[in-house]
Amino acid sequence: MTEIEKTNPENWKVGTSFLPGSLMQLEEIKNAGLDSIEFVLSSNELNLTYLGLKKRFDPYIERVGELGLEVWSVHLPFGSEWDISTIDIHKRNEILESHYEWLTWVSEWGIKRVIIHPSYEPIPENERLERIKACQYSLNLLAEKAKLLDIHICVEDLPRTCLGNTTQEMMELLKAHNNLKVCCDTNHLLSESPVDFIKQLGKSIATVHISDYDGIDEKHWLPGKGIIKWNEVINALAQSEYEGPFMFEVREDENDPKQLSECWNGLLVEYKET
Ligand SMILES: [Zn+2]
Repeated sequence: MTEIEKTNPENWKVGTSFLPGSLMQLEEIKNAGLDSIEFVLSSNELNLTYLGLKKRFDPYIERVGELGLEVWSVHLPFGSEWDISTIDIHKRNEILESHYEWLTWVSEWGIKRVIIHPSYEPIPENERLERIKACQYSLNLLAEKAKLLDIHICVEDLPRTCLGNTTQEMMELLKAHNNLKVCCDTNHLLSESPVDFIKQLGKSIATVHISDYDGIDEKHWLPGKGIIKWNEVINALAQSEYEGPFMFEVREDENDPKQLSECWNGLLVEYKET
């Protein structure tokens, strides 16, 4: 028996992570009945300056608007060269300068949320505390900047040795600034269930990355293929007053928009039956 929810999942919008490849993909997303996208800025992009983003991605954002879709969030680049927990303060400040350029571009399009990874990996155990401090320093500056631009920085929980790999550590990172929010990735926590995570961090969750896994490592499978109890996840989100969207972040070979739409409808039917 699920507990009474505070928001109604039937009203949630549905979205998918979108890695710009062709404008046609956006039409497929629209035609499948999805509402929103998370726009992914890949670290493989050749020009990640403000002007580089404008030139390469503005046409996509324009198309999103023409189609009546919404850019709900932007996933910022990650990787060793963009690691905000870098110990070297000069390198870290340089990395932050790039983040400020990305935030400027995001704000010019009126997009309200960005997703950030608290670190890259691996994090050696004997460096962990120092890396957490470095990450908090970055998150504080980023949140301050973002606040002026009416953007929320959403910190994503991560797997393995990355920073943010437990509820406890996520709470520690969030202390850096009171404007920070959480992106709940349902397939990243390897020592806790996503349901427990949502119950504890509920009020801070501003967006989600939805996919399934085996509990051993991230898989980004379509929901239903792994061990996640989706009724409980949906109920926990609804009890936390999460208002959507149900944002899929499924591996490339399983993220056909039609399949995502069917998946959500299936989950909703099962949810309503409980
Ligand atoms: Zn994710």
